[in-house]
Amino acid sequence: MNNITHSYSKDIEKEFKKDFFEKSIKTIRYSFLILAFMYSMFAYLDVLLAGSLLKQFLYIRFLVVVPLLLTTFLLSFGKYFRFFWQELLLFTNIIGGAGIVIMIVQLPAESFYSNGLMLIFLAGSIFIKLRSFYSTLAAIVNIILYNILAIYYFNNNIDTVVLNDFFFVSAIFISAFASYYTEVSDRENFDLLRQLGQKNSEIQEINSSLELTVEKRTSSLYIRNEELKEEISQRKIVEIELEAAKEKAEHADKLKSAFLANMSHEIRTPMNGIIGFANLLHEAENEEELDEFIKIIVNSGEHLLNLIDEIMDLSKIEAGIIKVKVDHFSLNELTKDIYDMFVMNKNVIDKDIALSYENGLEDNESFISTDRMRLKQILVNLVNNACKYTEVGSVKFCYKSINSQLEFTIEDTGIGISDEQQELIFDRFMQVSMSNNKVHGSAGLGLSITKIYLKMIGGNIKVNSKLGKGSKFIFNIPIKYDKQNSIS
Ligand code: ADP
Repeated sequence: MNNITHSYSKDIEKEFKKDFFEKSIKTIRYSFLILAFMYSMFAYLDVLLAGSLLKQFLYIRFLVVVPLLLTTFLLSFGKYFRFFWQELLLFTNIIGGAGIVIMIVQLPAESFYSNGLMLIFLAGSIFIKLRSFYSTLAAIVNIILYNILAIYYFNNNIDTVVLNDFFFVSAIFISAFASYYTEVSDRENFDLLRQLGQKNSEIQEINSSLELTVEKRTSSLYIRNEELKEEISQRKIVEIELEAAKEKAEHADKLKSAFLANMSHEIRTPMNGIIGFANLLHEAENEEELDEFIKIIVNSGEHLLNLIDEIMDLSKIEAGIIKVKVDHFSLNELTKDIYDMFVMNKNVIDKDIALSYENGLEDNESFISTDRMRLKQILVNLVNNACKYTEVGSVKFCYKSINSQLEFTIEDTGIGISDEQQELIFDRFMQVSMSNNKVHGSAGLGLSITKIYLKMIGGNIKVNSKLGKGSKFIFNIPIKYDKQNSIS
């Protein structure tokens, strides 16, 4: 803002004028109504004091000035008033003042009442919101007009002119200062409000950018939080898994120790039999007793050999030495071999077990591709168990082809397996704790080896059994026919 003129740069000045107009419009309307009223009220004094001038004065008041004041009042409601209002007010002010001047100079010297109206009019320029420059200009114009007309009408009665000038000039000064400071304070107020507005919008901007930053931070914190939650839950899962793995390892370790302890016991039993009865050989009293001792030694030897074979198999599996080897062979020949092998089995002969088997495919269609050695071991283990754990009755093994599988069944009428034991018999190291293997002198490795072999050739096994009634072992392997070797 300029220090002397108090005007702003072009754009702000425009804004100020707009603002000044909007704030002034109501005051302008009231002030013009009041002025018109006062101008009219002074007509009463005209009636009392103007004498022969009354008609002329009433013309000035009611045909010129009051209509002009009211017209200005009405124009203030117009759309374009804002573009010329200061100029119109200046014009109205000069005309209103000039009307009073004309009346003052014509009145007789003792009638001063119009001088009062002049003073009111000069002071009123602040009230009507005329800018200080225009109001001062209007007042000066009227004083000059007064002086010119007074000199003409008063015939050089300088005293009266000076007396009036004294009052009028004082009024000009007062109104000029007043209007000047009113405008300055208006402008300062406007400037302050403008700066406040600017600061406000700056603060709002800062606020919104802060809000944005806070929002961003909050969302990144939220994401991090979610990640942390995820991490924690992952860790918890890992912890649980580790705990489970630890427990499993500890359990496996215990089982392994129990297995080793049991194995050494299992080995000692037949070894004791062999050494004990070998020492007794020369003490045999007759041929029959000697045969008995030799039989025990041979049985114990076979048992020991079987046990060592199973342990060897298991350690080979654990070392990963055993690999699947696909052979092309006749399944019916294999089942016949097994039958031939077991028909001569000691258990079968001694217990007079009815051994039978049944093939599910014709001889010429029974050529398949799989690991013959493993399949044979599986069948041998299962048929051997069936014969071992059957005291009376029969053992039957058979196979049939279902969809793309071969299903083998080994059924016996033996001692059966309790429900709890059915859960354990395929677990490595588990069977060692079972009771009947003591009776049958077995180490409980056969079924776990069987299950592993089956897994190797892509099969699985299950058992149906009832204590005292017998057992049925059923296993499946994926079928792969060897068409080339099939005899058509
Ligand atoms: P082993 O026969 O050498 O003890 P296995 O692993 O072959 O070891 O068998 C585990 C256990 O399952 C046996 O000790 C026995 O208690 C039970 N079992 C297996 N086959 C039969 C069967 N056909 N009838 C009754 N019990 C069986």
